[in-house]
Amino acid sequence: MSDKISPFCFRSGCLASTVLHPELRTTSSSITIGSRIFKPETPLKTVAQLPETHKMAMQNIGASNRDDAFYRYKMPKMLTKTEGKGNGIKTNIVNNVDIAKALGRPASYTTKYFGCELGAQSKFDEKTGTSLVNGAHSTAKLAALLESFIKRYVQCYGCGNPETDIIITKAQLINLKCAACGFISAVDMRDKLTTFILKNPPESKKGSKDKKAMRRAEKERLKEGEAADEEQRKLKKEAKKKASSNGKEEEKKAAHKSKTNGDVKAEKPKEEKKLVQEMKEYLKKGSPISELKTFISSLSAHPPQDVMDALFNALFDGVGKGFAKEVTKKKNYLVAATQEDGSQMLLLSSIESFCGKNGNGEAAKEVALVLKALYDEDIIEEDFVLEWYQKGLTGVDKSSPVWKNVKPFVEWLQSAESESEEED
Ligand SMILES: [Zn+2]
Repeated sequence: MSDKISPFCFRSGCLASTVLHPELRTTSSSITIGSRIFKPETPLKTVAQLPETHKMAMQNIGASNRDDAFYRYKMPKMLTKTEGKGNGIKTNIVNNVDIAKALGRPASYTTKYFGCELGAQSKFDEKTGTSLVNGAHSTAKLAALLESFIKRYVQCYGCGNPETDIIITKAQLINLKCAACGFISAVDMRDKLTTFILKNPPESKKGSKDKKAMRRAEKERLKEGEAADEEQRKLKKEAKKKASSNGKEEEKKAAHKSKTNGDVKAEKPKEEKKLVQEMKEYLKKGSPISELKTFISSLSAHPPQDVMDALFNALFDGVGKGFAKEVTKKKNYLVAATQEDGSQMLLLSSIESFCGKNGNGEAAKEVALVLKALYDEDIIEEDFVLEWYQKGLTGVDKSSPVWKNVKPFVEWLQSAESESEEED
């Protein structure tokens, strides 16, 4: 299909089917583009046909992502109203079903959670989708509780991604498995809601399908939003990327050769150490990050890969467990160091060699988390990760634990990609 059509509502997180391009003629069962008629599996709805709740304001999932204008995952802002009087007063969370859908969790969980936290009776009606909590509670109060639900039961504890599956272990423990980084988050079983979840386990497949739809909807939305100049930028990058990865191959060959050559072998680590030292001293001075780029340029006598390696080693020397957190903390350095075309590949190679080093096993375990964090910050892009991974699997260091550990993240990227292609 033409990419001018999105099968989903433009508002991310909203899974309602819709047609957005004004030139398209639609009926309830098909879209006509020129003389071609497309019949979607589910009848398309125009925005006007959407239920009220779909037209509501959206917000990012997870309080920590509140200010990120480009955050991918969104949910509707909560709407509530009080019903009844006196002892019978109840709070109705009007759009709880839509919120729960955006979170990939049953609406009964959020309803029950509110009840548990407020010490009030609660009821979710599966048939009508009505969520009621006894007593009068403000929207702000309930929205704050929803945030704590998201933190405990939705977001990956490792990378913060809201795309997780609830897994109930044989020992009746509740885990969240992250679709992006593979991290398993162990939910605190002292929380009251856990009892309810164990009694009402999520339907395993349906949830992940919803989340896939959520991601696909978001992908479509992003696609639409990107203007033609974005395409131009990509083409330009592609050309440069080719040039840079060829260069990298050469370097690798050279590095490999040096391993067999005794003299060079002694020279190279020395020089690398010197470069790391130089980088450390620079960082110690505490110059503004904006000047890092200039400093890197001043080292142009060295191969660019060595410079990136040195920066990476200087920033993360001795870091093992907690590697991903450190990377997030120091992301601004990496942003500054990846402004040139081709530098993303250099950074990926630096991560690979850093994690592949002897004694850095703990860091290697977090490599998927690190990539996910860098991906979320737009420091590295999908195409580069996939290329790097493919090369790595067949390259000199194909036995490195990095490839095994990074696999869930790569698969996550690919699944989003193949799904949006299926739609085309
Ligand atoms: Zn994660």
